[in-house]
Amino acid sequence: MSTTEAQISEVFNSIQGEGLYLGERQTFLRFAGCNLACQYCDTPQALTIPKEFKVEITPGKKDFKQFTNPATIQQLIDLANSFQKPRGVNHSLCLTGGEPLLQVDFLKLFLPALKKGLDLPIYLETNGVLPDHLLEVIELVDIIALDIKLPSATGLSPYWKEHKKALETAYLKEVFVKIVFTRESKVQELDEAVSLIAQVDEKIPLVLQPVTPHGPIKHRPNPDQIMAFHNVAKRKLKTVKVIPQVHKIFGVL
Ligand code: SF4
Repeated sequence: MSTTEAQISEVFNSIQGEGLYLGERQTFLRFAGCNLACQYCDTPQALTIPKEFKVEITPGKKDFKQFTNPATIQQLIDLANSFQKPRGVNHSLCLTGGEPLLQVDFLKLFLPALKKGLDLPIYLETNGVLPDHLLEVIELVDIIALDIKLPSATGLSPYWKEHKKALETAYLKEVFVKIVFTRESKVQELDEAVSLIAQVDEKIPLVLQPVTPHGPIKHRPNPDQIMAFHNVAKRKLKTVKVIPQVHKIFGVL
């Protein structure tokens, strides 16, 4: 595969279901492949590279069409433009995954070409553990939704150093942090994550996302735990919102 081609999982237009821009209409390019394996991952289909990627032709209709991987720059530009009607409907174009920054060499060629004909902010969702890759495309993106991963929630080792470096880079643009937490998550690890954000800027917004039960995750966090987590985060940060995923409630992608 050359850097003018990308491994894609799916392309669709929908309502952003999480984070600070929840409720906004976006075109989503979901990149295939991830360098993590979080136990709460709700996009397992995006963790491997499929032979074909799917496109929902009409938003909300689930009228999928299959295309062969890898996708070309022009193919993805055409697909992004096909979701521009009615005029002005979209807030932004969302690069999601999987982990889009794994395909950073493609993004460096794709985003300048895309931006020539598409007047939309580029919204990047990243797991926040590839700071060097983020630095390579920071001038090409506008809004960054950056995850900080709690070991209790992911079942993985901590990535504090990588998250700090990634957040310092993301801070060059508009950024908010999202932290998914489970019933097993501990105040101490949240406090570590919150301190890391405050060291960059206490005004960076934080979205605390109670996990959506999925796979091995059977339960949501308890209400008293949610309140305690909000207290801990608010001690060091100016803007902290508790926002669960909502797109699954109304059944869109
Ligand atoms: S980083 Fe995101 S896509 Fe990758 S495993 Fe974790 S939740 Fe899934």
